[in-house]
Amino acid sequence: MSRNTNGSSSLYSFSIPMTALHQSANVITFISTDGNKSLFTNRPFKAGQVIDVLPCLSEQDYPTRYTVQTGPNQHIDIGEVWACGNHSCAPTMLFDMRRMLVTATRDLKAGEELTFFYPSTEWDMAEPFVCHCHSPECLQHIAGARYIPTSVLEGYFLNDHIAALVTERDAQNDTAEAHEEQHTNGVSNGISNGNGHVEHHQTNGK
Ligand SMILES: [Zn+2]
Repeated sequence: MSRNTNGSSSLYSFSIPMTALHQSANVITFISTDGNKSLFTNRPFKAGQVIDVLPCLSEQDYPTRYTVQTGPNQHIDIGEVWACGNHSCAPTMLFDMRRMLVTATRDLKAGEELTFFYPSTEWDMAEPFVCHCHSPECLQHIAGARYIPTSVLEGYFLNDHIAALVTERDAQNDTAEAHEEQHTNGVSNGISNGNGHVEHHQTNGK
C-alpha cells in the first residue's frame, strides 16, 4: 500500500503550525509551535487493523504523563512516538496492552489524528486534565477510569487490569451502600442543639 494515498482530503489540517518529528510508513508525529505533540496516520487503516506493535522501554510501579498502565501497579514507558498519542473521548486507536498492539477503532484515512481513550489503560492518572476533544460524548474531566461511572465505561474498550479494578470498585461500593443504608436509618441530618443553632451531621453521602 502506498503512503499518503488520500491526497484529496484535508490531511494534517492544523489550527497552529506543526513540524514533523518522526515518520514511519504507518504514522507521523508532529510538534506544534506551543510544544504540544500529536500523532497521525500516514496511510489508511481498516477498523480493527493493527497499526503497530507497542514497545516497552522500561517498567515502573508509578504513573507519569509518559507511561501507560499495564497492571494494578505496573506502568511502562512506550517510547516517544506512541507517547505523542493524545486523549479523545471518541478515540481512533486502541492500546491493547495484553497483546501490546495498537489497533484502529474504525476505518481511518491517511492524515487522521490517532487518539486513544486514556482511561482504557489508566486507573488514576498522575496529571488529570480537562478534555477539549469536542466529541458529543466528551467526558471533560479526565483523571482515570477510577473517576468514571461504570455505565459510561461500559461504552469503551477497557484493558483487563482496568476492567478488574472497575469490578473491584463496584463490589466495594455495593458493600459501602449496604452499610450506609443501615447507618442512616434513624439518623437525621439537622439536630437542634437547643441554642437555635443546627448541627449538621454528615450522613455519609457519596
Ligand atoms: Zn473529550
